[in-house]
Amino acid sequence: MTHQHRLATTWVDGAAGSLYDVDNLPYGVFSRDAENARVGVRIGEFVLDLAPVAAADMLSVGHLFEAPELNAFLATGRDTWDSVRGWIQGLLTDEGERDIVEPSLVPLEQVTLALPVAIGDYVDFYSSLDHASNVGKILRPDAEPLLPNWRHLPVGYHGRAGTVVASGTGVRRPCGQSKAAEASVPTYGPSRRLDIEAELGFVVGAPSRLGERVPTAAFADHVFGVVGLNDWSARDIQAWEYVPLGPFLGKSFATSIATWVTPLAALEAARVDLPVQEPTPLGYLQVGGPAGYDIAVEVEVNGEVVSRPPYRSMYWGPAQMLAHMTVNGASVRTGDLFASGTISGPTRAERGSFLELSWGGTEPWTAAGHERSFLLDGDEVVLRLTAPGEFGRIGLGEVRGTVVRART
Ligand code: MN
Repeated sequence: MTHQHRLATTWVDGAAGSLYDVDNLPYGVFSRDAENARVGVRIGEFVLDLAPVAAADMLSVGHLFEAPELNAFLATGRDTWDSVRGWIQGLLTDEGERDIVEPSLVPLEQVTLALPVAIGDYVDFYSSLDHASNVGKILRPDAEPLLPNWRHLPVGYHGRAGTVVASGTGVRRPCGQSKAAEASVPTYGPSRRLDIEAELGFVVGAPSRLGERVPTAAFADHVFGVVGLNDWSARDIQAWEYVPLGPFLGKSFATSIATWVTPLAALEAARVDLPVQEPTPLGYLQVGGPAGYDIAVEVEVNGEVVSRPPYRSMYWGPAQMLAHMTVNGASVRTGDLFASGTISGPTRAERGSFLELSWGGTEPWTAAGHERSFLLDGDEVVLRLTAPGEFGRIGLGEVRGTVVRART
C-alpha cells in the first residue's frame, strides 16, 4: 500500500506535534469507571473510544473494538489494519468529523489501561551483538565471548506467556535456588541479583499455518506492531539453573510490556538497514531492504535515566527472528509475542541490563544519588521508547514496574 497523501494536521487539542500525533496512533485496551474494557487508540493525551465511532460510521469491523483485548482486530490482517488506520487518521484530521468524534475522546487521566493483548506463545531472543558479547565476557571470562552458533542464527528460548503483565504492575522479587561461587550446595531465598532487560517486543496479528514457514518478506503481513518490554531477570537463580536447557525460573516470574501497541505502519520512517552480517546468513534468514528499526530507549531508575540503549544497533532483525522461529514448520498464532533480547549498544551508557551496567556486580552505578548493582525493594524502573515518525518523534508508551518485597 502506498501513501501518496501527506497527513493533514489533527484538530485534537494538544496532539499536533506531540509524541502521540496522527502519525503514531497506538492501540490499547482501556476502561473508565464501571464500564467494560474495550479497544481505544491514543491521540495526544486522549484515548479515542473506537466502538461508538465505528458504530456511527457502520464500520464492518466496528464490533471488534468492543472486546477487552486487541486479538480479534489483530486477526483480521494487514489490509484491515491499514484501512482502519486510514479511517482513524481521517476522523482526527477532518474538521467536519469533529462534532461526531470529540465526545468519544476520553482524557487519559480518566482511564485504566490493561494488558492490550491476550498473549499466546512467548519467545525471547538474544539479538544484540554487544549484549551477547558483554554477557559472554562477564560469565565466561576465559573463553570466546560469542558461542559458535551466534552469528548463524538468532538464538532464542520459549518463555512463559501467562506471566506477561501490563506496565504499572508491581513485580514481586522472586524466591528460588541459587548457589554462591564458593559454596558447594545451593540455598533457597529471595533473589539478590534482580535485574531488567530493556527489549522490544513484536506482536503477531495474522497467524501462519502449521508446517509452513514465514519468509522474511512476509514479516509485515503477520506482525501487527511493537511494544516496549522489560524481561525481569533474577541473575542468581538464572546462573545456577540455566545449564543445559536455558532460562527457566530466573525469568518466568514476570515480563512487563507497554499498554500501547504501536503498529508497524507508524514505524515506516524508523526503518533502517541492519548492521552488516558476517558471515552472510543462510538463505532463509536473508532480508531485502531495511529490516531494522531506529528506536531509542531510555532506562530510568527512581526518576533518573541510567542508560540509553539503541535498538538500531541490533544484529538480528525481527523478520529474521520470525523466519527462524517458523523455519521448522512451527506456526504462530494471533497474540503471540516475541522479543528482541536485551538491547545494548557498544558503550557503557548504552547497556540494557544491570548485569552489564555493573559488569557482573563489580562496577556499581548510581541512580538518584544511590549506589546500585542490582535492584532493591521499592526501586521503580521505567523504560521509555521513541522513534522517528512522519511528523517528528513518536512515543511507544512506557514500561513501568516497581520491585515489591519478596514473599518469604
Ligand atoms: Mn531477555
